[in-house]
Amino acid sequence: MQIYLDGQFVDSAEAKVSVFDHGLLYGDGVFEGIRLYDGNVFRLVEHLERLEYSAKAILLTLPLTRQELIDATCETCRRNKLRDGYIRLVVTRGVGDLGLAPWLCAKPTLFIIAGTIQLYPPEHYEKGLRIVTVPTRRIGPAALPPAIKSLNYLNNILGKIEARQAGALEGIMLNEQGYIAECTADNLFIAHRGVLHTPAGSQGALLGITRDTVFALAAELDLPVRETNLTRYDVWCADECFLTGSGAEVIPVVALDGREIGSGQPGPVTQRIRAAFRQRVTTDGVRL
Ligand code: PMP
Repeated sequence: MQIYLDGQFVDSAEAKVSVFDHGLLYGDGVFEGIRLYDGNVFRLVEHLERLEYSAKAILLTLPLTRQELIDATCETCRRNKLRDGYIRLVVTRGVGDLGLAPWLCAKPTLFIIAGTIQLYPPEHYEKGLRIVTVPTRRIGPAALPPAIKSLNYLNNILGKIEARQAGALEGIMLNEQGYIAECTADNLFIAHRGVLHTPAGSQGALLGITRDTVFALAAELDLPVRETNLTRYDVWCADECFLTGSGAEVIPVVALDGREIGSGQPGPVTQRIRAAFRQRVTTDGVRL
């Protein structure tokens, strides 16, 4: 596998970063997880826009322009002869000393990995996920804005461990006020009486690219979407629930905390959104 690393393509065995890299020492950096579908880098421009905003928010100057990032991403896929896959684009603060000081890091480290991934086993797209609410609360916007897709994922990792301990593949994280923020690596939607609801960014949700795609699809399908405060009750008593993420795509949720949602089967709204999403993945983006 060929990895893009700071302007060069190197074999994965040679793709190494320093132990003094602040991405490793402090989680100081930003990243994107992007999908490639039949030679189409899905919503690459939107991902790069979010990367640029994440970098701006942490006062990190990206080492490449938008076009250079597009070219490097596509070239990484081409060199690996990939038509379908998962792309991880990471920019760290770079090599510094053992103190926090980001201003002592001379230049950011940028690498792009293009590989394959399957997040959820296929049967869950048919039958739906049974998920739980995890005890760890999502870090709030006052501490670390959730819109920043940073390398600090420990908060989500704790949630992920708790979901697994409860026998679930994904878990809902509440914010400090007890409203739903998102899942550990996916955004959450409910459908109730013909309206889609999802937590706002201010509640602790990452502004997911898939979430944003669902907004666009819902508008085309004449389904109103509301960004709103959601409690666990709202999900227990919703008609339908689904999760969105680059890895997960659009996946139905059929139970939360042991309560079946709606009919306990993937619902018609979720299926319509998922079908519309699948149609879009090969056309909406940048072709290799
Ligand atoms: N929330 C979190 C915490 C995530 O890490 C992700 C990405 N896996 C998402 C939501 C979904 O975002 P996207 O649709 O951009 O992949």
